[in-house]
Amino acid sequence: MLTPIALLVASALSLPAPIAAPPRVLVDPTSPRMLTALETVKADEIKSDVYFIASDQMGGRDTPSDGLRVTARFLRSRLERLGWKPGAKDGYFYEYPLEQRVIDENASRIDWEGKGASGQLRFGTDYFLSTLFDVSDLSVSGPVVFAGEGSKEDLGSARVEGKWALVFDAGTEVRELSRNARRAKAKGLIVAPGPNYKGDDYPKRFAPALERQRKGSVAWPSKPGAKADEEDRGPRDLFPMVLMTRSAAESLLEVAKKPATPAKGADLGITLTETRKLVGDGGKIAVENVCGFWPGSDPVLAKECVILSAHYDHIGIIKGEVHNGADDNGSGTSTMLAVAEALQEFGPLKRSVMIIWVSGEEKGLWGSKAFSENPWFPEGVKPVADINIDMVGRNAPDKLLVTPTREKTKEYNDLVKMAEKLAPLEGFPKLGSADQYYERSDHYMFAKLGIPVMFLFSDVHEDYHRAGDDPEKLDYDKVHRVARLVLRILDGLDEQASLK
Ligand SMILES: [Zn+2]
Repeated sequence: MLTPIALLVASALSLPAPIAAPPRVLVDPTSPRMLTALETVKADEIKSDVYFIASDQMGGRDTPSDGLRVTARFLRSRLERLGWKPGAKDGYFYEYPLEQRVIDENASRIDWEGKGASGQLRFGTDYFLSTLFDVSDLSVSGPVVFAGEGSKEDLGSARVEGKWALVFDAGTEVRELSRNARRAKAKGLIVAPGPNYKGDDYPKRFAPALERQRKGSVAWPSKPGAKADEEDRGPRDLFPMVLMTRSAAESLLEVAKKPATPAKGADLGITLTETRKLVGDGGKIAVENVCGFWPGSDPVLAKECVILSAHYDHIGIIKGEVHNGADDNGSGTSTMLAVAEALQEFGPLKRSVMIIWVSGEEKGLWGSKAFSENPWFPEGVKPVADINIDMVGRNAPDKLLVTPTREKTKEYNDLVKMAEKLAPLEGFPKLGSADQYYERSDHYMFAKLGIPVMFLFSDVHEDYHRAGDDPEKLDYDKVHRVARLVLRILDGLDEQASLK
């Protein structure tokens, strides 16, 4: 990619020769009423919002996270105070489901009883699970039988059908032990270090897996009937396997009054129940887009709605460092807050406006994907355009990119034409091309609603997706001019009878 300086040089070279260019006079087409609204957009107020949204206490606004939810509630509170209407079915939050796999350590445990005694083994101390995919809602109960070192022969001769097979780890891959036990129709498998085990102690060996199970993972919900996770990873087909420490296994053998290495096929006389739980309702969680609606005043055009979008999530905490995402996308999030406030000053436009702050953008445009697959608008209202803003606070003061440019003939539209016309009024003499980012932010999903879309962006930089994307590095005068430009565009589009 070209450096910003190289890009400026390149665009300067492509300008026509100065002698040939007639002097351009910019005529401001904006109404006095809009000019008053523009005055309400203040760089210092945007700065104050970015410092809040991109503070360390928000923890980098990962999807999902507490910081993300706090940010959503902050945005909702501001919409309410400004008098914006709820923009979702049940309020200001458009909720969509995700699948989260995080172990619930308090609810996950092993209970055993037999030989007149009973007890409990603790997950993460006495036993472990081998992968993140083993974390699932599950409860399996049965008698325990010793089955040697877990070879096919061992498991076959120990008659483990319908029982927990306890095997001694002698270095065989646990996946292979699991396959053998499943073929022998065991109910589940307990693996513990045996006398021939030479590897790391289990707490050390399975520490990375434990960390992953605690941190968990989040995914776009798999469709019913989808192929993924069905093989030997999915909950439906999950074969229960636990990795038990040597001391925990020894204590069970002691209770069973068996020697340190029992005979193959020996029944311990113990019933063992393993319970696994995911955090949340079967691993399903809901996350939020924040939506505000500003009804239009024209009896006909008010049925048409311009979407203003910006993602408010970021990438969270990575290797202990909070990634604040001040530019990405504290800048766009705060720009839309400034626009919401200015419209409150202005009053209704002819068309309606829906501001959507989406989550999950950094994970794969999840929030906008959910919305575009299942959109919600007030009765009788349909979307006619989307203006999306992501990262508008860095690089040169006059640098602003747009996509789709006229190079993308099929997608090029009235919104971009209006932006190109009005950008010089806010100190952006010529909009550069962001066409290479056309598929990289939320407008791409809103385009699936069959409407013209436009993306404003002021390019990546050295702190892009790094811990250094901090509030003190933003050019707030620039961000405030982007907010003013959005207002001017809305006003300009309002004069057009139709948008395409
Ligand atoms: Zn990003």
